[in-house]
Amino acid sequence: MEHTASVLGRIPKGKRPRDVNALLAKLESYLTPEQVGQVYAAYEFGADVHEGQRRLSGEPFISHPVAVASLLADLHLDAPTITAAILHDVIEDTPTAKEQLAEQFGREVAALVDGVSKLDRVQFRSRAEAQAESFRKMLLAMADDIRVIMVKLADRTHNMRTLGSVPPAKSRRIARETLDIYAPIANRLGINSMRLELEELGFKALYPYRHRVLERALRRSRGNQRQFMRRIQDRLEKALRKAAIQAEVQGREKHLYSIYRKMQQKGRSLNEIVDVFGLRIVVNSADTCYRVLGIVHSHYRPMPGRFKDYIAIPRINGYQSLHTTLFGPNGLPLEVQIRTEDMDRIAESGIAAHWQYKTGDALGAAPQARAHEWLKGLIDMQGNSEEFLESVKIDLFPDKVYVFTPTGEIRRLPRGATALDFAYSVHTDVGNRCVAAKVDRRLVPLRTQLVTGQSVEILTARGAKPNPAWINFVVTAKARAAIRNYLKNLQRGEARELGRRLLDQALGEFSMSVRKVGRRKLKALTDELALADADELFEKIGLGERLAPLVARRLVAGGDEAEPGRQVEPLSIAGTEGMVVTYARCCFPVPDDPIMGYLSAGRGVVIHRNDCGNLAEYRKQPEKWVAVDWKHKVARRFSVEIRVEVINRLGVLAEVAANIAESNTNIEHVSVVERDGDTSTLIFQLQVSDRRHLEELLNRIRALPDAYKATRSCA
Ligand code: MN
Repeated sequence: MEHTASVLGRIPKGKRPRDVNALLAKLESYLTPEQVGQVYAAYEFGADVHEGQRRLSGEPFISHPVAVASLLADLHLDAPTITAAILHDVIEDTPTAKEQLAEQFGREVAALVDGVSKLDRVQFRSRAEAQAESFRKMLLAMADDIRVIMVKLADRTHNMRTLGSVPPAKSRRIARETLDIYAPIANRLGINSMRLELEELGFKALYPYRHRVLERALRRSRGNQRQFMRRIQDRLEKALRKAAIQAEVQGREKHLYSIYRKMQQKGRSLNEIVDVFGLRIVVNSADTCYRVLGIVHSHYRPMPGRFKDYIAIPRINGYQSLHTTLFGPNGLPLEVQIRTEDMDRIAESGIAAHWQYKTGDALGAAPQARAHEWLKGLIDMQGNSEEFLESVKIDLFPDKVYVFTPTGEIRRLPRGATALDFAYSVHTDVGNRCVAAKVDRRLVPLRTQLVTGQSVEILTARGAKPNPAWINFVVTAKARAAIRNYLKNLQRGEARELGRRLLDQALGEFSMSVRKVGRRKLKALTDELALADADELFEKIGLGERLAPLVARRLVAGGDEAEPGRQVEPLSIAGTEGMVVTYARCCFPVPDDPIMGYLSAGRGVVIHRNDCGNLAEYRKQPEKWVAVDWKHKVARRFSVEIRVEVINRLGVLAEVAANIAESNTNIEHVSVVERDGDTSTLIFQLQVSDRRHLEELLNRIRALPDAYKATRSCA
């Protein structure tokens, strides 16, 4: 600090550019010398990196960030914001990295500069109203620090002031963006001074002719009004003095853009709007406002239905004031606003007003926190007004992300949404056939969570299919429903195949098969069972809703004498049957274990070990049993549970686990139970390929000095 504080002293005032001097003078009125020193250090840094760059106006580039900082100094924003304003273009326009800024000016400043640069990278292309609203939300959501938005607004304000040097096509685009995006944001945050300037400059640049006509008309009417205004003002001031009320009565400026908009939206003529007198009365307390209202109403008759109490019910951006319209002299309408100084300050600077309290004010908290409190207070005050929640809460405490499609359209997704959710939001088919995603033109995994401002592209392939694992990371209802639906269809197909095999197996008992039974017999049975076709019958068998042996008996009954008692050919399990064959979690069967299949309605076949303890219960329903065995080569891995009893010693778990891993076995889960001081039991869930693999593994563990017992769990 010592170093930066002395910077100012070392450079004689005369050697510093004039605009910098003016900025520093403003800052000295409310910042400490150390803070002013830091801003100056930022200026030197910026002047250095922008050296040789010029604005389109021909001025040295550094004049722009200095002007931006100066606008924010008028709002009394804090030192980090002013510093960031000076540096706001260095990341974008120069190779200076964020880390270097952090090192030199601290993390806070670096984060602010980075935030502004991020906003600079997104461009508004559409002209649709709804898209503009989305874009505003997007910008607010991207700026997780409200000060970033304020720097951006100041940046835009200065760019609008110097728009004259920009080529016409580009300047029109910037002007439109200013009116559609930035002025409404300033309005939402209540920063009235900036809002008015942005509107005025945007209007002038976009519609120069309309602007000129309106300006002339307004100037003329102002000349006519001056006399009247003076008289009304005098009369009210006198009345207030008589009531011993301290108040300031001001004539109110009319703004061209709001006149223009009223003409357009309400279809009123220029005279109707321009010939309205405006007055503002500022007092020192809220109840004085109501007293003033009474006095005003006793001098000029109020227009019915035109009184609004924004003190009791503030506008959504926090604006508070009393509004009333009176019949003025000659019957012309007279609009009066009555408010306190605090309300006036909020009306001018909105959220920025929270940086304007002097340190040591009653609210000792940091301005950031106060601004945040203010917003929260607004939310409470508004109850759960939907419009309000929509416009402020969601914008400033975002629970949505906004991303671009490759064509520049904006899509809104819930926070946490992944690239895959995006794909499904475009179209179910895009989601289902999605194979890869690009975020900002770089390939990313489909599970990547999206961040506001990114542009997302989905790559699809013909014949690509959803992966069941997707269900674990999508967050949108649409994606989830689409994947579930696909899995259900998939399961249906698998069930059909298994059902046919089960029926074949059961028919084998009668030396028959599905083929030998023939279509006609199948058709007769499905009609009898009120099923659509044989496929539906197979499906029901596969899902365990109909039992293959019973179906088989009905198919052969009535025919020739069946030959019962033949040995049933067991169904071969390959491990690739999909969702309709599952492996019991009680006994964890692995290939080469003697096994049985149990038909469970809706789930298909569940495979158990022959010696599974739970079988006793199932044995009561013999018709639900299916004879199964393992196919010769089963090319997948199966879960199995083992218990290892060990002597308690530091690192023993790690030792056993390392041994398991070395034997090319995946560990799915570990738990430790039964600690009795000297020994404990480790329970591992592993993936093995077959019985032999498991046996080798157990032997290997038994050979460890601290493991005195290793067995497979039995249910
Ligand atoms: Mn800039």
